[in-house]
Amino acid sequence: MRYTSTRGLPDAPRPGFSDILLEGLAPDGGLYLPEAYPQVDAATLGEWRTLLAGQGYAALAHAVLTLFVDDIDPDDLRGICERAYNDTVFSSPEIVPVSRLEGGLWLAHLSGGPTAAFKDLAMQLLGQLFEYELERRDAQLNVLGATSGDTGSAAEYAMRGLPRVRVFMLTPAGRMTPFQQAQMFSLDEPSIVNVAVDGVFDDCQDLVKAVAGDLAFKQRYSLGAVNSINWARLVAQVVYYVASWLRVSSTDDERVSFCVPTGNFGNIMAGHVARSMGVPIDTLVLATNENNVLDEFFRTGVYRVRSAAETHATSSPSMDISKASNFERFVFDLLGRDAARVRELFAVELPRDGFFDLSGTPEFASLAATFGFVSSSSTHADRLATIADVLTRDGVLIDPHTADGVKVAREFARPGVPMVVTETALPVKFSETIVEAIGREPERPERFAGIEELPRHVVDLPNDVDALKSLIATRVP
Ligand SMILES: *Cc1c(COP(=O)(O)O)cnc(C)c1O
Repeated sequence: MRYTSTRGLPDAPRPGFSDILLEGLAPDGGLYLPEAYPQVDAATLGEWRTLLAGQGYAALAHAVLTLFVDDIDPDDLRGICERAYNDTVFSSPEIVPVSRLEGGLWLAHLSGGPTAAFKDLAMQLLGQLFEYELERRDAQLNVLGATSGDTGSAAEYAMRGLPRVRVFMLTPAGRMTPFQQAQMFSLDEPSIVNVAVDGVFDDCQDLVKAVAGDLAFKQRYSLGAVNSINWARLVAQVVYYVASWLRVSSTDDERVSFCVPTGNFGNIMAGHVARSMGVPIDTLVLATNENNVLDEFFRTGVYRVRSAAETHATSSPSMDISKASNFERFVFDLLGRDAARVRELFAVELPRDGFFDLSGTPEFASLAATFGFVSSSSTHADRLATIADVLTRDGVLIDPHTADGVKVAREFARPGVPMVVTETALPVKFSETIVEAIGREPERPERFAGIEELPRHVVDLPNDVDALKSLIATRVP
């Protein structure tokens, strides 16, 4: 399996999986995708059904990943999957259980990992892949990242204890929820460096960009990233679409729809990959909050990046985006993999005009029929009403992001086609909104008891590039 860039020229190099594992963007500024999606037929899906039932999620992950990875020994890859997906890491031995809601809806429970958000499913695999590849190269990696909450903690819990990986994670001082702070800052490991920057999330991101942009420094200190454009994270997410489809369907050609709360288009892109492989996914329903950059595109054909001032701070904060970093991958497929057109849109029109417009093109007209996409959005009032309603009708407490999904799923649910909502986090992470919706605190799973009481391990840092560089220099041998 070779990989190609969304902006790639026909004669550009075609790296393998392990080559792009530790990279971010392709050298031409595009994102990597497989040259062609591997195809699965009903017989393979039938084998996977038996595999999942008999040997479990890690075995299914191994079967799916082998289609995308041909430069890691198959037995080694199996070990990687087993270390990433087991019941010492996830709260359920099924890893991703499903449960039924009223009205033909289902929930795929993706939040059983150490940080109670679906990002654990990708990060746990990424950590194991990193360690394996670094061992093979006899190298070390210093992950430098910025987080407003979920990504950073998932990365830290996945990379802790890996001998070849160290993590420097920048957070905006005082701006995460007490629970999110406690999750990260209670980690007591020399290889995990929490940094509280005197600034907002954008300042943290700018610091990361400035330091990673100093190529000599980046090389000297082996800096790397774990951001959502990493292909390995996406391919890990393909597995839970397959697993959820297997658990909800009863025959090997039964069609199932998915509704996905969306920010950077990572999660739903994995659904698109699964559908493109031939997994019988009927419709991919995209749900946004008030930050409806993507909902607007799927309804109108216009993709318009928002300014910071136009980006709302909502009660589903992990979806508060001004642009969607993975969206270029989907546009590449939508435009028949025409890299020259993608380059024109993302490298020329978007920086120049702040938007591009595909309305009136045959590709946009074919979106629903060919790609199965529909979309809608949700508001704060919708979230509160949906959280309360799902609790009353189904006896299940969902988090505000999942509520965006359930609200939109109900708009598109059709009799006879099950609709799976991908649960994105546990309510305990967003208790303020839960209290507003139902008048009481969410239950706290045992594994998070008393974390706010634990000693905090965090370095305060001014919003200054040189200060960050000297911190890295003192911590990296
Ligand atoms: C990251 C995240 C999202 C958005 O996912 P994307 O892959 O960026 O679309 C939604 N909800 C929660 C809780 C998240 O952590």
